[in-house]
Amino acid sequence: MSTVAELLSEARQLSPEDAPLLLAHVLGKDRSWLFAWPEHRLDDAQLKHYRQLLERRRQGEPLAYLTGEKAFWSLDLEVSPAVLIPRPETELLVELALDLDLPEAIQVLELGTGSGAIAIALAKERPDWKITATDASAAALDIARRNAARHQASNLDLIQGHWYQALPDDRNYQLILSNPPYVRTGDPHLLQDGLPWEPPQALTAGSDGLADLRIIIGEAPAHLLPDGWLLVEHGYDQGKAVRDLFDSAGFSRVATRQDLGGQDRVTLGCYPPRP
Ligand code: GLN
Repeated sequence: MSTVAELLSEARQLSPEDAPLLLAHVLGKDRSWLFAWPEHRLDDAQLKHYRQLLERRRQGEPLAYLTGEKAFWSLDLEVSPAVLIPRPETELLVELALDLDLPEAIQVLELGTGSGAIAIALAKERPDWKITATDASAAALDIARRNAARHQASNLDLIQGHWYQALPDDRNYQLILSNPPYVRTGDPHLLQDGLPWEPPQALTAGSDGLADLRIIIGEAPAHLLPDGWLLVEHGYDQGKAVRDLFDSAGFSRVATRQDLGGQDRVTLGCYPPRP
């Protein structure tokens, strides 16, 4: 049994959503090709590869790591287990950044870019912005660089380092954004939904999940231009704690926004305080 049609019919019971995507991936085609060429026969190597991927998927490995691709915003991005898989709820961070009332050609900083999803989406939407994006992981930055090249994001600089330590110390930004790790260590959620396959350093941040948000928010005022904005993603139950961190750091106009699921997801604020 090795035609496209046979494999798709077999997969209908096994994994109706994912099997066509994996099959198309193995063949180097898109899904519509499968339906146009049902009689196409896989060779032995392709069949073996496909069955291995299907089994890994059955064990819980995220589809995006099996195909090496994930869509975010309007972009197809390369992903690997070196980077967090971009989540649809993170598009809120991009939307809110685009909605701010900002001057035209501004300096923007994204901390912890991973695959580059947020920085590249912004770079494409705002060609006048000069964007710097950092990551502590060299392997993540390799992926971000390839994604930036693929989407010709020429207004984007990628640099390695831990949060603000990556930066040249003479530059300040009009806008800083981050989707940092914010899950509590030991959170049972880490055992579900493919999270065991994702990089733990991109997911967890201390026993309250706020360890990295504390650094990012606390040190932001030193890196923002006057009337600069900070936007951070956080967990659905961290809105109040994150607003408190913004307040203690001296931000004004602090607010939390909800994602499409109605959950607290992004908090933003402006620095310095205004009368
Ligand atoms: N939103 C991710 C989750 O649900 C967490 C991403 C992150 O820590 N930045 O697991």
